[in-house]
Amino acid sequence: MATYLVTGGAGFIGSHLGESLMAGGHRVIALDSFSDSYDYRVKIRNVQQDTCRENVAALSDKESALAELSRSLDSAQYRLETVDIRDAHALERIFQSERIDAVVHLAALPGVRASIEQPLLFEDVNVRGTLLLLETMKKYGVRKWVCASSSSVYGNNTKVPFSESDSVDSPISLYAATKKSNELMGYTYHHLYGIDSIMLRFFTVYGERQRPDLAIHKFARLIDQGKEIPFYGDGSTKRDYTYIGDIVSGIRGALSYVENNESVYEVVNLGNSRMVSLNEMVACLENELGKKAVLNRLPAQPGDMTMTFADISKAKRLIGYEPRTRFEEGIRNFARWYGGNLS
Ligand code: NAD
Repeated sequence: MATYLVTGGAGFIGSHLGESLMAGGHRVIALDSFSDSYDYRVKIRNVQQDTCRENVAALSDKESALAELSRSLDSAQYRLETVDIRDAHALERIFQSERIDAVVHLAALPGVRASIEQPLLFEDVNVRGTLLLLETMKKYGVRKWVCASSSSVYGNNTKVPFSESDSVDSPISLYAATKKSNELMGYTYHHLYGIDSIMLRFFTVYGERQRPDLAIHKFARLIDQGKEIPFYGDGSTKRDYTYIGDIVSGIRGALSYVENNESVYEVVNLGNSRMVSLNEMVACLENELGKKAVLNRLPAQPGDMTMTFADISKAKRLIGYEPRTRFEEGIRNFARWYGGNLS
């Protein structure tokens, strides 16, 4: 049994990863600040098990609810730490109290548009927070690291599919710039201190528990409520949507690779390698929800990429990544989950 620190462990991807690692017999320390990037109660539901549902639901203030959540989830396989990655003392306390085999770093402020509105906050969490984590790993001799980067580092790359060898020197949002800087810091700590690292460039992840601010989830809610969808551009922008189950398999593959190899620094795309246009995405949601979308057509937004499309040959070769979920099937799973979670 290995012990993994998963930062952002109560988020969309982190909560799924935690479950998968536990199902594999491992111990998970989920670290999460339950930041206000979206409603903290959604993140509570992400990690909550049936056993503690009622106790936590009865508490109305955030602090007591999180304390009760940590207490009731604590087990030989799971520990929840409601900690901010920018809190050096809290990080030290965790690293002192556990023998951590590897870190999966998912904690971040995500969102292209939000980063344009709050650039200094994004820099503080995504860059300084990541650096503090690396410093703590260095101090406590943790040498295996998998870190979330993003397809957004490709900016308005016109060469498709996007390959890890393409230049990523022109990020078009501050969010993308913070992710590129994580990749650079990962290399520096690998070079100076031998931290084996894989930086995973996720391509638009969707599925059960998807963040409420992301297009598929937001559109589903608006279609369901019969409200207008803010529809930027003419619908021809394309995304390579990647199902959460495939992303979790990819992270697990990357973890195995860093754990079983020495002197590793790699940047790896995790996508589905199929482009779906915004128009097609809306049509697919309408089909699954059985309702028509009402579109409020607006001009394209600054910072938005025209397309994303992953070359996943390196992921296949290096970490055995093999995405299996077709977009239509993933949307069906999402819609089923969405229908069962209407509050
Ligand atoms: P998420 O917001 O659901 O999860 C991130 C978690 O990090 C949240 O639970 C949040 O509370 C936590 N967090 C934020 N600031 C923190 C801080 N200062 N200290 C501790 N915890 C903090 O997002 P997600 O979609 O699960 O994304 C996970 C990672 O993957 C992020 O790094 C994101 O940038 C990256 N990513 C996601 C996608 C996607 O499509 N979902 C695409 C590319 C990259």
